[in-house]
Amino acid sequence: MPLLLACRNRVTALLIALMIIAIPAGSAALGQQATPQATPDTTEQLAAVLPEWHDELLAVMDTVSATYEIDAEVRLPGDGNPIPNITGTMTMEYTNTTGDPLTELPFRLYANAFDDLGDLLRVGVVTVDGADVTSNQLDDSSTVYVPFSEPLAPEDSATIGMSFVSAVPVNARQNYGIFNIDPSNGTWALAHWYPMLAGWDPGRGWVLDPPSANGDPIFSTTATYDVTLRTPADWRAVTSGVEVESTDIDAGIERRFVSGPSRDFTMVLDDDFEVAERDVNGTTISSWYNPGQERTGEAVFDYIAQALEYFNDLIGPYPYTTLDVVPVELFGAAGVEFPQLFYMSAGYYGPNQNLDVPNNLDFTVAHEVLHMWWYFMVGNNQYDHAFTDEGITQFMSATLYFSAVYGPEVGEIMTERHLTNPFRSNIGGGNDQIVDTPTDDFASSGGYVFAAYTKAPVGFMAIYDEIGEEAFNEAVTNYFYDNWFTVASTDDLQEAFEEASGQDLEEIWSHRFEEAAGEDDI
Ligand SMILES: [Zn+2]
Repeated sequence: MPLLLACRNRVTALLIALMIIAIPAGSAALGQQATPQATPDTTEQLAAVLPEWHDELLAVMDTVSATYEIDAEVRLPGDGNPIPNITGTMTMEYTNTTGDPLTELPFRLYANAFDDLGDLLRVGVVTVDGADVTSNQLDDSSTVYVPFSEPLAPEDSATIGMSFVSAVPVNARQNYGIFNIDPSNGTWALAHWYPMLAGWDPGRGWVLDPPSANGDPIFSTTATYDVTLRTPADWRAVTSGVEVESTDIDAGIERRFVSGPSRDFTMVLDDDFEVAERDVNGTTISSWYNPGQERTGEAVFDYIAQALEYFNDLIGPYPYTTLDVVPVELFGAAGVEFPQLFYMSAGYYGPNQNLDVPNNLDFTVAHEVLHMWWYFMVGNNQYDHAFTDEGITQFMSATLYFSAVYGPEVGEIMTERHLTNPFRSNIGGGNDQIVDTPTDDFASSGGYVFAAYTKAPVGFMAIYDEIGEEAFNEAVTNYFYDNWFTVASTDDLQEAFEEASGQDLEEIWSHRFEEAAGEDDI
């Protein structure tokens, strides 16, 4: 979920979002049929993975239920094409890992949920094992079902083909602006730009909720991606995964990317990005920025480098060859995480950005880097239990990261600024919340923000104080290795702390996360 700015900004963003007029999707090329292709060798995906982790992640990729092959083209307005869009075909090899026969398979078209007309992302020809089928799109337009003529038995596989056109809105502020063309600098921010297999939560089944209004809308499970993308020649493409091929073509440039095990494939396109790029622990960190923004771009690079080293050492490895960060005009969010990539609010890239120690740019970077562990590698149902990724991420970045990197006094300053002071003022102001509440069940976005980003991290701090540094560090390492590339439950996290410490933590857990009794803690 995004690291949110103050609630006031969030409300403003929502009000502005209501005023956005949707752009109708183009329909050209929807009749195009996905071309069945030979299933690529899984070992090709290893380009995204550090050599010392090839064996472990190859084993992970052997168990994923979906492999995506996407062939897509950026289409600019003109030549009979009225609006900017991405036109493509997707071919997915799906293996039924649900344990039950399936008569249909749900896909999410998240872009449609926040668009007045509900048709930014249109699906055209749909095939199953090469035969045309009629898909069934639900009224809310963000879910489409692909039927099987015969039920797909557990562990059986099918090949789903889908053509799609994804109209990219201009200056759209829905969902913090994560899917948007920013006309001021030409940046295309492309979250959820393709039809995604619905996420599978082993505790709940398919997650088909309306996309969250308060938090991150996307929930997805680990897959692999092989993406071919055509853009104008001079465009940069910053993506999840790593570029493995690049070919000049008549109309521009064609690039191919692979992701390794990944929950999503997000892209940001721009024609004049510059980059600060170096290796840390074998991973190439790329901090992208617009011309004239190198001061923040370089600082972001330094903060990523120290955060990546610290969390690699504390938790376990970030096993990928690349990690990218890009400035994006965000509405109501300071940063938003995706696999192997995160957005930073473009507001940080001004010439007067505060870079004194400690500063909030550093804090946001550390928070988003830590999401590579909590959200990306260890998944969780962010809609039902947002606190298990946001809360622990907020505590570990505000308190542990700043204490370790800059010393305990600086750690105390950031703990007070981001955790204990807002905790006291919210409780004192009568805004206590039950932390473990589904995101949109909070009465207000302010209640959600307090629960996930303030009360939950204060709760994890109480657990840290109760069990001590050694047990806490052992718990997060075990939680990481035991749950990577799966969807972890709240019990998995609680048990990790209990097993590492040898303590029964039920009382502290329920008090901090399942009750509204925060006045006991100030
Ligand atoms: Zn976050």
